[in-house]
Amino acid sequence: MQSSEILLSRSALNHNIAFFRKLVGPKTKFVAVVKSNAYGHGLIPVASIALDSGADILGVNSLEEAMILRDHFPKATILIMGSIPKLQARYRELEDENFWVLVSRIEEIKIISTLKHRPKIHIKIDTGMSRLGASMDSVEELAKEIKFLKLPLDGIATHFASTEDFTEHSYSMKQLEKFESAIETFKRFGFIDLIRHCASSASAMLFSEARMDLVRVGISLYGLWPSLETKLSLSQMKKEIGSLKPALTWKTKIQHIQNLPQGTFVGYGSTYKTTHPTKLAVVPVGYYEGLDRKLSNQGYMLIHGERAKILGRICMNMTMLDITNIPDAKLGDEVVVLGNSGNEWITADDHANWANTINYEIVTKILSLFPRTIVD
Ligand SMILES: *Cc1c(COP(=O)(O)O)cnc(C)c1O
Repeated sequence: MQSSEILLSRSALNHNIAFFRKLVGPKTKFVAVVKSNAYGHGLIPVASIALDSGADILGVNSLEEAMILRDHFPKATILIMGSIPKLQARYRELEDENFWVLVSRIEEIKIISTLKHRPKIHIKIDTGMSRLGASMDSVEELAKEIKFLKLPLDGIATHFASTEDFTEHSYSMKQLEKFESAIETFKRFGFIDLIRHCASSASAMLFSEARMDLVRVGISLYGLWPSLETKLSLSQMKKEIGSLKPALTWKTKIQHIQNLPQGTFVGYGSTYKTTHPTKLAVVPVGYYEGLDRKLSNQGYMLIHGERAKILGRICMNMTMLDITNIPDAKLGDEVVVLGNSGNEWITADDHANWANTINYEIVTKILSLFPRTIVD
């Protein structure tokens, strides 16, 4: 018996994919970004639901993730977005016509193009993220050399740096201009029908001109907003704020109950002292299981549709809750860490606010060892 249950809602994923499908139209392909154990939601169950509900491509970070997907889905198109370390030593693992790889350097194209059944090669352009990608200064030289050496090239891509962070989008617009000029440069050298892509969740929702040939949607596939700013931007731009449905529920059970007199310290560091006679519940979830330790003395969980405050520091595998005002709560009762109980919700955004981070980090940290169970 696992100490946590992670439930994955098929209908929520279907709903979110349908939302993007309608938004981007039939000409733009939909990449379901399932890197990092599908943002903690479970790589294989999410990939299988996404493919069933019409995702065209699965997006991952690493070759390792691509190989796991390939074992389960022999025909799926898989886009590998991160770089592949030690490419020279392992490029034969890319012998797969339904792999698409993003590369930053011509050396990578040279290596990959020697494969008989080579993957599709997309060049990544750094338009302002300063992470992967060829620099804007090098684009002309690069296009010239790829053409001169008769190397294959199938696509061109970039990634926005700060669309999620602001409601003012001049930096993203500059990135888009740079990307369009890189596309033009490649066109001049004869690469006329490259597959063009740059949009992730926020930019796909905000900028219709960024949708191009495919969108790479991660966080909002799971029903989460990239940020509050994304919602505000949509409303400022008088665009529809789509309805997204969170797909993940995290549940556990009350493991132990204690009645403590007023003035009792709780947990490591004695950071909490009861201010009243307190009924306390222990749940078998801690920072190892993926609960952010910054929720100590701050966050809540749900029991019988009521909020139970976290008392003291979160431990490695346990957390203490105040259930004084939930008198019916008893041993073995369900505790919702993320999701809803009755009319109350605790969302990944609540956790992110308590922990001063982003919802992306909250969900990707949920222990991958727990099985993900598909419901509805
Ligand atoms: C992770 C990632 C995405 C998805 O971003 P979201 O904000 O989660 O939609 C898209 N493109 C690249 C290159 C990524 O690494």
